[in-house]
Amino acid sequence: MKELTAPVAEIFCSLQGEGLYAGQRQVFLRFAGCNLRCGYCDEPAALDGAAAAPMTTAEAARAVIKLARSGKAGDVSLTGGEPLLHWRFIKTLAPLLKQAGLRLHLETNGVLHAELRRVLPLLDVIAMDIKLPSSTGAKGCWTAHKKFLAAAPEKTFVKVVLTSKTAMPDFEKAVRLAAACAPAAPFFIQPATARRGVRPPGARFVREACCLAASRLGNVKVLPQQHPLWGVK
Ligand code: SF4
Repeated sequence: MKELTAPVAEIFCSLQGEGLYAGQRQVFLRFAGCNLRCGYCDEPAALDGAAAAPMTTAEAARAVIKLARSGKAGDVSLTGGEPLLHWRFIKTLAPLLKQAGLRLHLETNGVLHAELRRVLPLLDVIAMDIKLPSSTGAKGCWTAHKKFLAAAPEKTFVKVVLTSKTAMPDFEKAVRLAAACAPAAPFFIQPATARRGVRPPGARFVREACCLAASRLGNVKVLPQQHPLWGVK
Protein backbone atom coordinates (compact mmCIF):
# COMPACT_ATOMS: atom_id res chain seq x y z
CA MET A 1 0.00 0.00 0.00
CA LYS A 2 1.29 3.48 -0.87
CA GLU A 3 2.42 5.45 2.19
CA LEU A 4 0.55 8.66 2.97
CA THR A 5 2.40 11.93 2.35
CA ALA A 6 1.66 15.57 3.16
CA PRO A 7 3.39 18.86 2.30
CA VAL A 8 5.45 19.72 5.38
CA ALA A 9 6.87 23.25 5.34
CA GLU A 10 9.11 22.80 8.40
CA ILE A 11 9.69 20.88 11.63
CA PHE A 12 11.49 22.64 14.47
CA CYS A 13 11.72 22.84 18.24
CA SER A 14 11.00 26.15 19.97
CA LEU A 15 8.88 27.85 22.63
CA GLN A 16 5.15 28.11 22.13
CA GLY A 17 4.47 31.81 21.71
CA GLU A 18 0.67 31.99 21.87
CA GLY A 19 -2.27 31.06 24.04
CA LEU A 20 -2.64 28.70 26.98
CA TYR A 21 0.73 26.97 26.60
CA ALA A 22 2.85 30.09 25.93
CA GLY A 23 6.40 29.44 27.12
CA GLN A 24 6.21 25.64 26.81
CA ARG A 25 8.89 23.85 24.79
CA GLN A 26 7.27 22.18 21.84
CA VAL A 27 8.12 20.60 18.53
CA PHE A 28 6.24 22.31 15.70
CA LEU A 29 5.25 20.45 12.56
CA ARG A 30 4.05 23.02 10.06
CA PHE A 31 1.88 21.79 7.21
CA ALA A 32 1.72 23.82 4.02
CA GLY A 33 -1.61 24.82 2.53
CA CYS A 34 -4.53 26.76 3.99
CA ASN A 35 -8.22 27.04 3.22
CA LEU A 36 -8.34 30.70 4.36
CA ARG A 37 -6.51 33.88 3.40
CA CYS A 38 -6.28 36.19 6.42
CA GLY A 39 -4.96 39.68 5.78
CA TYR A 40 -2.69 39.50 8.85
CA CYS A 41 -1.24 36.06 8.04
CA ASP A 42 2.38 35.80 9.15
CA GLU A 43 2.97 32.42 7.49
CA PRO A 44 2.98 33.12 3.76
CA ALA A 45 5.32 30.14 3.28
CA ALA A 46 2.66 27.86 4.75
CA LEU A 47 -0.12 28.99 2.42
CA ASP A 48 1.08 27.28 -0.73
CA GLY A 49 0.77 23.51 -0.35
CA ALA A 50 2.62 22.90 -3.59
CA ALA A 51 5.72 24.79 -2.38
CA ALA A 52 6.62 22.31 0.40
CA ALA A 53 8.27 18.92 -0.01
CA PRO A 54 5.98 15.91 0.57
CA MET A 55 6.93 13.83 3.59
CA THR A 56 5.70 10.38 4.59
CA THR A 57 4.15 9.80 8.00
CA ALA A 58 7.14 7.63 9.00
CA GLU A 59 9.62 10.36 7.99
CA ALA A 60 7.64 13.03 9.84
CA ALA A 61 7.32 10.88 12.97
CA ARG A 62 11.06 10.14 12.98
CA ALA A 63 11.96 13.82 12.61
CA VAL A 64 9.51 14.98 15.30
CA ILE A 65 10.51 12.31 17.86
CA LYS A 66 14.22 12.98 17.31
CA LEU A 67 13.75 16.73 17.87
CA ALA A 68 11.51 16.17 20.89
CA ARG A 69 14.14 13.95 22.51
CA SER A 70 17.07 16.25 21.80
CA GLY A 71 15.08 19.40 22.70
CA LYS A 72 13.48 17.88 25.82
CA ALA A 73 9.97 18.65 24.58
CA GLY A 74 6.98 16.53 25.56
CA ASP A 75 4.44 18.29 23.34
CA VAL A 76 4.00 18.60 19.59
CA SER A 77 2.02 21.31 17.84
CA LEU A 78 0.51 20.44 14.50
CA THR A 79 0.31 23.83 12.85
CA GLY A 80 0.13 25.45 9.44
CA GLY A 81 -1.36 26.62 7.20
CA GLU A 82 -4.32 24.51 8.21
CA PRO A 83 -3.35 21.06 9.53
CA LEU A 84 -6.86 19.59 9.15
CA LEU A 85 -6.53 19.77 5.36
CA HIS A 86 -4.23 16.78 6.02
CA TRP A 87 -6.43 14.88 8.50
CA ARG A 88 -5.74 11.49 6.89
CA PHE A 89 -2.01 12.06 7.37
CA ILE A 90 -2.59 13.16 10.99
CA LYS A 91 -4.68 10.05 11.65
CA THR A 92 -1.69 7.86 10.75
CA LEU A 93 0.99 10.11 12.26
CA ALA A 94 -0.67 10.76 15.63
CA PRO A 95 -0.51 7.18 17.00
CA LEU A 96 3.23 7.06 16.20
CA LEU A 97 3.81 10.25 18.18
CA LYS A 98 1.61 9.13 21.05
CA GLN A 99 3.48 5.83 21.27
CA ALA A 100 6.59 7.95 21.85
CA GLY A 101 4.84 9.61 24.81
CA LEU A 102 4.17 12.95 23.12
CA ARG A 103 1.06 15.08 23.70
CA LEU A 104 -0.59 16.45 20.59
CA HIS A 105 -1.76 20.03 20.12
CA LEU A 106 -3.69 21.14 17.06
CA GLU A 107 -3.40 24.79 15.98
CA THR A 108 -6.31 25.43 13.66
CA ASN A 109 -8.42 28.13 12.07
CA GLY A 110 -11.45 26.33 13.48
CA VAL A 111 -13.45 25.81 10.33
CA LEU A 112 -13.06 22.17 9.17
CA HIS A 113 -15.32 20.56 11.79
CA ALA A 114 -16.02 17.33 9.87
CA GLU A 115 -12.28 16.74 9.51
CA LEU A 116 -11.75 17.55 13.21
CA ARG A 117 -14.14 14.76 14.21
CA ARG A 118 -12.03 12.25 12.26
CA VAL A 119 -8.97 12.87 14.45
CA LEU A 120 -10.49 14.19 17.67
CA PRO A 121 -9.74 11.18 19.93
CA LEU A 122 -6.04 11.49 19.00
CA LEU A 123 -5.71 15.11 20.09
CA ASP A 124 -4.92 16.39 23.59
CA VAL A 125 -5.28 20.16 23.04
CA ILE A 126 -7.08 22.19 20.38
CA ALA A 127 -5.98 25.81 19.92
CA MET A 128 -8.81 27.23 17.84
CA ASP A 129 -9.00 30.63 16.19
CA ILE A 130 -12.28 32.45 15.74
CA LYS A 131 -11.67 34.54 12.64
CA LEU A 132 -13.31 37.96 12.67
CA PRO A 133 -14.14 39.19 9.16
CA SER A 134 -13.15 42.76 10.05
CA SER A 135 -9.73 41.49 11.24
CA THR A 136 -9.04 39.04 8.41
CA GLY A 137 -10.54 41.05 5.56
CA ALA A 138 -12.34 37.87 4.46
CA LYS A 139 -15.89 36.66 4.93
CA GLY A 140 -16.99 35.21 8.26
CA CYS A 141 -17.07 31.49 9.12
CA TRP A 142 -19.55 31.72 11.98
CA THR A 143 -21.55 28.55 11.30
CA ALA A 144 -18.43 26.45 10.81
CA HIS A 145 -16.82 27.95 13.94
CA LYS A 146 -19.91 27.08 15.97
CA LYS A 147 -19.88 23.44 14.90
CA PHE A 148 -16.13 23.26 15.44
CA LEU A 149 -16.21 24.69 18.95
CA ALA A 150 -19.11 22.45 19.96
CA ALA A 151 -17.15 19.31 18.93
CA ALA A 152 -14.80 19.20 21.94
CA PRO A 153 -15.09 22.23 24.24
CA GLU A 154 -13.25 20.39 27.04
CA LYS A 155 -10.08 20.13 24.92
CA THR A 156 -10.31 23.55 23.30
CA PHE A 157 -9.05 27.04 24.00
CA VAL A 158 -10.04 29.94 21.78
CA LYS A 159 -7.91 32.69 20.29
CA VAL A 160 -9.21 35.84 18.64
CA VAL A 161 -6.79 38.14 16.80
CA LEU A 162 -7.56 41.87 16.93
CA THR A 163 -6.11 44.41 14.51
CA SER A 164 -6.63 48.15 14.05
CA LYS A 165 -9.44 47.20 11.64
CA THR A 166 -11.41 44.97 14.03
CA ALA A 167 -15.02 46.00 14.55
CA MET A 168 -16.47 45.56 18.05
CA PRO A 169 -19.75 43.96 16.80
CA ASP A 170 -17.63 41.22 15.18
CA PHE A 171 -15.77 40.64 18.41
CA GLU A 172 -19.02 40.57 20.36
CA LYS A 173 -20.34 37.90 17.99
CA ALA A 174 -17.27 35.76 18.76
CA VAL A 175 -17.83 36.19 22.49
CA ARG A 176 -21.50 35.16 22.13
CA LEU A 177 -20.47 32.12 20.13
CA ALA A 178 -17.94 31.07 22.77
CA ALA A 179 -20.45 31.68 25.58
CA ALA A 180 -23.01 29.49 23.82
CA CYS A 181 -20.71 26.58 22.89
CA ALA A 182 -17.84 26.58 25.38
CA PRO A 183 -18.34 29.04 28.26
CA ALA A 184 -15.56 27.48 30.37
CA ALA A 185 -12.96 27.31 27.58
CA PRO A 186 -10.02 29.72 28.04
CA PHE A 187 -10.53 32.68 25.69
CA PHE A 188 -7.44 34.58 24.49
CA ILE A 189 -7.58 38.04 22.97
CA GLN A 190 -4.48 38.37 20.82
CA PRO A 191 -3.63 41.90 19.64
CA ALA A 192 -1.93 41.49 16.26
CA THR A 193 1.84 41.92 16.04
CA ALA A 194 2.73 45.09 14.11
CA ARG A 195 4.35 44.46 10.75
CA ARG A 196 4.07 45.74 7.21
CA GLY A 197 0.39 46.18 6.35
CA VAL A 198 -0.80 45.09 9.82
CA ARG A 199 -1.40 47.39 12.79
CA PRO A 200 -2.36 46.27 16.29
CA PRO A 201 -5.55 47.62 17.87
CA GLY A 202 -5.41 50.62 20.21
CA ALA A 203 -5.10 50.06 23.97
CA ARG A 204 -8.59 51.42 24.60
CA PHE A 205 -10.16 49.01 22.11
CA VAL A 206 -8.34 46.07 23.75
CA ARG A 207 -9.56 47.17 27.20
CA GLU A 208 -13.16 47.42 26.00
CA ALA A 209 -12.96 44.05 24.25
CA CYS A 210 -11.54 42.46 27.40
CA CYS A 211 -14.36 43.88 29.59
CA LEU A 212 -16.98 42.74 27.10
CA ALA A 213 -15.57 39.20 26.98
CA ALA A 214 -15.16 38.99 30.76
CA SER A 215 -18.82 39.95 31.22
CA ARG A 216 -19.88 36.73 29.47
CA LEU A 217 -16.97 34.29 29.85
CA GLY A 218 -15.15 32.90 32.86
CA ASN A 219 -11.55 32.72 31.64
CA VAL A 220 -10.46 35.67 29.51
CA LYS A 221 -6.87 36.79 28.94
CA VAL A 222 -5.10 39.28 26.70
CA LEU A 223 -1.88 37.88 25.31
CA PRO A 224 0.01 39.14 22.26
CA GLN A 225 2.34 36.77 20.38
CA GLN A 226 5.35 36.22 22.63
CA HIS A 227 7.89 34.73 20.25
CA PRO A 228 8.67 38.04 18.46
CA LEU A 229 9.41 39.52 21.92
CA TRP A 230 11.64 36.61 22.88
CA GLY A 231 13.41 36.68 19.51
CA VAL A 232 12.61 33.04 18.77
CA LYS A 233 10.83 31.46 15.83
S1 SF4 B 1 -5.81 30.60 8.83
FE1 SF4 B 1 -3.73 30.94 9.64
S2 SF4 B 1 -2.33 30.15 8.04
FE2 SF4 B 1 -4.39 30.37 7.10
S3 SF4 B 1 -4.32 32.40 6.16
FE3 SF4 B 1 -5.23 32.66 8.20
S4 SF4 B 1 -3.48 33.16 9.54
FE4 SF4 B 1 -2.61 32.32 7.63
